[in-house]
Amino acid sequence: MKINNKIVLLPTVIIMLFSSIGILTIDYQLHHGLNDRVNTELRWLATVALESLSIANKPTTQEHIDVIADRIGQASGARITFIDQHGNITGDSRISVNRLSVQDNHQDRIEVAQALKTGTGYAKRHSKTLRQDLIYVAVLKRIDLNGQETPYLARASLASNTISGQIMEMRVALLSLLSAGVIVLVFSMAFTLRWLSQINEKDKAQLANTLHERNTEIESMHELDSLLSACIKLDDASGITQQLLPGLLKKTHGAISIYKPSRDRLITQMHWGDKQIDHSHFAPNHCWALRRGHMHLSKNESHRVKCVHFDNLKDTATLCIPLISHGQTVGVMHVIKAVFDKKTISLANAIAKRMGMAVANIELKNTLRQQAIKDTLTNLYNRRYLFESLEQLTARALRNDTQLGIIMLDLDHFKSLNDHYGHDTGDIALKNIADFFRKATRESDLVCRYGGEEFCIVCPDSTQEETLYVAKKFCVGIANLLIKINVTDTVKITLSGGIAMFPNPESSIELTIKEADQALYQAKHDGRNCIRAFSPKPPETIQ
Ligand code: GH3
Ligand code: MG
Ligand code: MG
Repeated sequence: MKINNKIVLLPTVIIMLFSSIGILTIDYQLHHGLNDRVNTELRWLATVALESLSIANKPTTQEHIDVIADRIGQASGARITFIDQHGNITGDSRISVNRLSVQDNHQDRIEVAQALKTGTGYAKRHSKTLRQDLIYVAVLKRIDLNGQETPYLARASLASNTISGQIMEMRVALLSLLSAGVIVLVFSMAFTLRWLSQINEKDKAQLANTLHERNTEIESMHELDSLLSACIKLDDASGITQQLLPGLLKKTHGAISIYKPSRDRLITQMHWGDKQIDHSHFAPNHCWALRRGHMHLSKNESHRVKCVHFDNLKDTATLCIPLISHGQTVGVMHVIKAVFDKKTISLANAIAKRMGMAVANIELKNTLRQQAIKDTLTNLYNRRYLFESLEQLTARALRNDTQLGIIMLDLDHFKSLNDHYGHDTGDIALKNIADFFRKATRESDLVCRYGGEEFCIVCPDSTQEETLYVAKKFCVGIANLLIKINVTDTVKITLSGGIAMFPNPESSIELTIKEADQALYQAKHDGRNCIRAFSPKPPETIQ
């Protein structure tokens, strides 16, 4: 910060103004005080002179009087003059005795005239004799002179430039003192301001640094928030964790473990930092943070107990924070650092909060999506998902010049099973059949519950022969399946099916499904428990 001159100048001017007023007041007081003191001293000198004259050896001649005036004058530095009541000078410390007779009569001198009237007289004027300005004080007293009591005057005088000189000296001293004071004040103010501004500068730099760090943190947290909220899969969140967390939690590495749906183990699914955390899964009771329900710090000052899942780590501190969302623990965040400071701990807690929400949101989205695309009874894909997927599968088949086999299956006489054993048994049968399909199909096949007791199985990259083979396998497999309906009883069921291939001449999947349906109808017509392949010609019997 540049020192603003006004900050120094303004107080200096004010101080100088007040000091000048103070000096003028002191000067005035000194001037008057000194004048009064001079007047008092001169009066006292004149009185002393008269008393000296009164006690002098008799007879008192003019020579004696002049000697007394000379001595007192020499001793005091003032001019001492004796004057009789008629105004004649009888002795003077600055005039020799033989010149006294030629001196003017002093009866009309102001101080003498005043003293004759009132006892004391003052005057200030130019002395023709001494050729300088003098201050005169005359005192009238009755004294014993040669045995006779006579009114007599003594006058003491002092050059007025002596007083002016003293006042001048005092003024110079005062001004020097003031100037020194002001200089010291200005320098100390400038120094203090400079010192303060340096401290201020340092503080400002520190504050700017802290603000910058805080802003970066807030921006990164904001970015983390917005990216996490857009995640659909845990893999997405894992990528974000890997990229953003090293910048937020500096000099750390770590991982995030998520509860399995069974909640008996946690799977470590996300990592950040250079080193990978060894454990890939662990039991919840191996983590103190999960057992206690709040963060657990180890190897920091007094915290020494390490989680079991960190057994292999020896000399580093570890921090585990449960990931909680809406009161439920969804996982745990592990942070590893040489030593943890308060800032890292609070930042890690803030991140854990967001991670908890993100994981819960992803799981919720997953559940909702699964609910939207899957049938709740059989957990097979529903008809909506079938048509969504067919768009991609048909496009890929056309692009890759491959075929897509469609198998439409319908359980035989399922109504009578329901009627005979009840609807719940019908449901158990549907679940069993769905499990069978799941196990009997390839990963790339798509098994859907098309309607009540109807199923559609899509076989990508398959020829008609392959599709027919798979459909037949299902038909035989279901026919041989023993469906357990209670502890002791089992039932058997058969199905009929039709297959059709995409692409057809119209390249329409809707047409393929219709054709598969037609083939299924034919299978029903041919006595059930069999598979028919669609053919523009009348379909041939397989079984
Ligand atoms: P077909 O051999 O001609 O196909 O005879 P079917 O009895 O299987 O056919 P139908 O269309 O007459 O009856 C279908 C039955 O499937 C009727 C319905 O009660 C039953 N069903 C459909 N969905 C469910 C379900 O979710 N649970 C149970 N238990 N039964 C279902
Ligand atoms: Mg049916
Ligand atoms: Mg049926």
